Amino acid sequence: MPIDSQQVTWVEEPDIGFWEATFLPAIVAGLKTTLRHVTEYKPVTKQYPEEKPSLPEHYRGVHRLNRDEQGRVKCVACMLCATACPANCIHIEAADAPPEWPDRDKFPASFVLDELRCIYCGMCEEACPVDAIELTHIYDLTGRTRNELVYDREQLLSIFDKTKDNPRDPVRTHRGKLGPAAAFKELPTVGPATAVPAAERAAVATAPGVIGPDPQTLQGQ
Ligand code: SF4
Ligand code: SF4
Repeated sequence: MPIDSQQVTWVEEPDIGFWEATFLPAIVAGLKTTLRHVTEYKPVTKQYPEEKPSLPEHYRGVHRLNRDEQGRVKCVACMLCATACPANCIHIEAADAPPEWPDRDKFPASFVLDELRCIYCGMCEEACPVDAIELTHIYDLTGRTRNELVYDREQLLSIFDKTKDNPRDPVRTHRGKLGPAAAFKELPTVGPATAVPAAERAAVATAPGVIGPDPQTLQGQ
């Protein structure tokens, strides 16, 4: 396309004086900026994992399957969470409830949730009519293989057992009255989400690619 010379703005090179030509003023200005950053140093780096982040109150982490008052899995295998899940990471196999469970027709014979595929949107929690699935504050899940992070029913129930007494993860049974997010407003102020046990702080590479507690620390226990 031809260029219209009327639309071109010509910029003349500015005249610079003797000092500008030596670049000394620019060097001094740059050094002043460097010195200001050195003297007004404010570290922003977290020393993780020793220093844990303070999570937002409504943080959505690893799931748990809740138990009812009798210790049974609360889920009634209605499939609403799996239907609502946009990542298609919940797989449930329903079975007839045992005769000694007269309060429900079904229960999840198998409940598998792929924690790596999940996008932690919380829609499963919102969809559940009996508050059986909830997201906890746990964020630092790790595994040596992808399969280790595909949680089955027992693993999800064990997360309930681990978190139910933590004030960050109260069992939210207020469906219809208070939603899960509203329940968090009643929480006391608590510190960082999780603490690193002393044994884990001494984690070392026991073999190439394998991280575990320091063997000497374990011997002393
Ligand atoms: S948090 Fe969202 S993506 Fe994860 S299992 Fe629940 S509905 Fe699916
Ligand atoms: S966790 Fe809740 S929504 Fe999902 S199948 Fe069980 S009862 Fe239904």
